[in-house]
Parts: sequence; C-alpha cells; structure tokens
Amino acid sequence: MNEFREMRRKRQMLAEEESIAILQKATSGTMALLGDNDYPYAVPISYVYQEGRLYFHSAMEGHKVDAIRKCSKASFCVIDQDDVKPEKYTTFFRSVIAFGRVHIVENDSERFEIARLLGNRYNPNHDEDLQKEIESGLSHMLVIRFDIEHLTGKEAIELMKSRHNRNST
Ligand SMILES: Cc1cc2nc3c(=O)[nH]c(=O)nc-3n(C[C@H](O)[C@H](O)[C@H](O)COP(=O)(O)OP(=O)(O)OC[C@H]3O[C@@H](n4cnc5c(N)ncnc54)[C@H](O)[C@@H]3O)c2cc1C
Repeated sequence: MNEFREMRRKRQMLAEEESIAILQKATSGTMALLGDNDYPYAVPISYVYQEGRLYFHSAMEGHKVDAIRKCSKASFCVIDQDDVKPEKYTTFFRSVIAFGRVHIVENDSERFEIARLLGNRYNPNHDEDLQKEIESGLSHMLVIRFDIEHLTGKEAIELMKSRHNRNST
C-alpha cells in the first residue's frame, strides 16, 4: 500500500504544477510535527520552495526544533484561498498539503545558500543588505530542509466548476 492515502474527492484535486504554484506564491504555512508528549504541534512559519523542497529558518532551540530532532516526519499546509460564502454556508477554498521529512541542515555552504534563497524570497534585489544580514545572523540561525514526498492540492467544488466552465467557453 502507498504510504500516503489518496484524496477521496479526486475531481477537486489540483494538478501538481498548480500545487507547486501555490507553494511558490504563498509566504507562510503551517508545519505539523510530532511535539511534546506526542501531541501534534502545528506551527506557522515562513518558507521558500525550490525544486521539491521547502526551506525554513529558525531560532536554534524551542519546541519546533526539539520536535524535528525527535521525529523527521512532518507535514506542511498552505491556504491559498479562504473565501467564506455566508449565504451558502460554505467556503470557496484552495489549499495544499505536503508530507515529507524535515532535516536540520549542517553544511555551511548549504546553510548560506538557503539563507540567501529565503532572504531573496522576502526582499528581492538587495544583495548587499542580504549579505550583511546573513553574515551577522547565520551563526545563530537554524536552517531546516523539508524534502517533499507527497504533495496534493485541493479546491472547493464551486471553484473547480467555475474553472471548468471558463476553460470550456
Ligand atoms: C506568518 C508567520 C511566519 C513566521 N515565520 C517564522 C519563521 O520563518 N521562522 C521561525 O522560526 N518562526 C516563524 N514564525 C514564528 C513561529 O510560529 C514560532 O513562534 C517560532 O518559530 C517559535 O517556535 P518554537 O516552537 O521554537 O517556540 P517555543 O516558544 O519553543 O514554543 C513553546 C510554545 O509556545 C507556543 N507558541 C509558539 N509559537 C507560537 C505561535 N506562532 N502562535 C501561538 N503559540 C505559539 C506553543 O504553545 C508552543 O508549544 C512565524 C509565525 C507566523 C505567524
């Protein structure tokens, strides 16, 4: 059996490139880890996506880091759209969930490249400022890599239908 379960409502499933586009567009998501006393720990965090991986920066210690050191299995959720339709008692949603393994990056040149990737993602085209920021901050920053093993995107049936209608006209 596949380690990851299939979506029940397959019509609402996004194509892989659409899920990736959401990961490239959003600026934060929620990482779910096995936290203290095995309670799931879902923690919001900024990230950058590149080639099947997500990268994060963090303080050197804390609940999140302890959880990662204890168990590398994680999931990450990004909400692309949350458009509440009160009169319909529903939400026109679009979201992505990734499952994978998280690792603390130890290699210095890899840490530097990831810090640059993150910095550029949030403040592009400021190479000199970023260089200074990394030089002063990298030694007390933890860099985390999330290798995506399974990625799905899903949207509300209404969004799926309106997209289908647009494409067929
Ligand atoms: C949009 C967004 C982007 C963020 N980006 C980053 C980032 O890039 N890097 C980063 O390290 N952090 C980021 N944070 C902060 C992040 O959510 C955590 O607060 C932080 O990483 C510390 O986590 P910790 O487990 O080490 O905290 P700890 O202080 O060790 O956690 C102890 C307890 O504090 C509570 N707690 C911790 N964080 C939160 C929280 N955010 N909200 C409510 N309760 C909390 C929980 O009960 C947790 O068990 C971001 C938060 C938001 C909302």
